[in-house]
Amino acid sequence: PKAAATGADGVGLLRTEHMMLSTGVHPRKFIIDGEEDKLVDTIAEGVLKVADEFYPKPVWYRTLDAPTDEFITLEGGENEPREHNPMLGWRGIRRELDEPEILKAEFKAIKKLHEEGYTNIGVMLPLLHKPEELRQAKEIARSVGLEPHKDVDFGMMVETPAAAIIIEDFIEEGLDFVSFGTNDLTQYTLALDRNNELVAKHYTEAHPAVLKLLVSVIEKCNKAGVTTSICGQAGSKPEIVEKLVEAGIDSISANTDAVETIRKLVAKVEKKIMLNAAKKALRNEKD
Ligand code: PEP
Ligand code: MG
Repeated sequence: PKAAATGADGVGLLRTEHMMLSTGVHPRKFIIDGEEDKLVDTIAEGVLKVADEFYPKPVWYRTLDAPTDEFITLEGGENEPREHNPMLGWRGIRRELDEPEILKAEFKAIKKLHEEGYTNIGVMLPLLHKPEELRQAKEIARSVGLEPHKDVDFGMMVETPAAAIIIEDFIEEGLDFVSFGTNDLTQYTLALDRNNELVAKHYTEAHPAVLKLLVSVIEKCNKAGVTTSICGQAGSKPEIVEKLVEAGIDSISANTDAVETIRKLVAKVEKKIMLNAAKKALRNEKD
């Protein structure tokens, strides 16, 4: 309700793992205990609250992405692998494709809501680094009767440099939208663990390499008619948002308390763009 009260045009990132962490139970435990239905219902109930609050505005559901060091705290999470660096480890789509039962349950939850009339939900995949992952996830969606691009908008987060560099290959595989996960894209581009305080002082989304990746993906997606958005923290940072709007991004997802400021800033930058275009057109007319 707090987010909807901002008058935002939708939800650019619905983090499933928050819903799971709040149940206190590891999603795999539901599967092992033969309680897939309960997992589907838990996810559906969580998404419903948001989809209902925002209907008919779009809500992008991000499939499960919790690193092993977070899953370990849950009931049934005792057997989580101990990884040297969970941020570079078994998380996001790579884990989901290894444990497709969980991804299936998520898609079943979205299908259920779609059948109840919630046609405003989009699916967003985290941490992709190769187009096969997009293809496999779509196959899993189809296997439970959820048709990507038809029943739901189907998109991906751009949060690995690999995905940003070969975005055309993902576009060819079929995408309705991309959203920048700048929290991860920054850590992977700069080789800085986002949870490591010793290197936190070097962490900035304003690094030219990160900006270059963002601008290049926006340009390629615009050419291909794929919607672009951002859902990382940088979407609440005016200095980055300004650059993204100038590059032609379609939407910005900001923290609830930043929505108003970011909305005003976007309007200001767009006015500037229109004014410059009008001035240029006038000059051309005179010539
Ligand atoms: C991101 O990486 O920018 C993002 C939004 O995902 P998360 O912070 O959940 O990794
Ligand atoms: Mg991320």
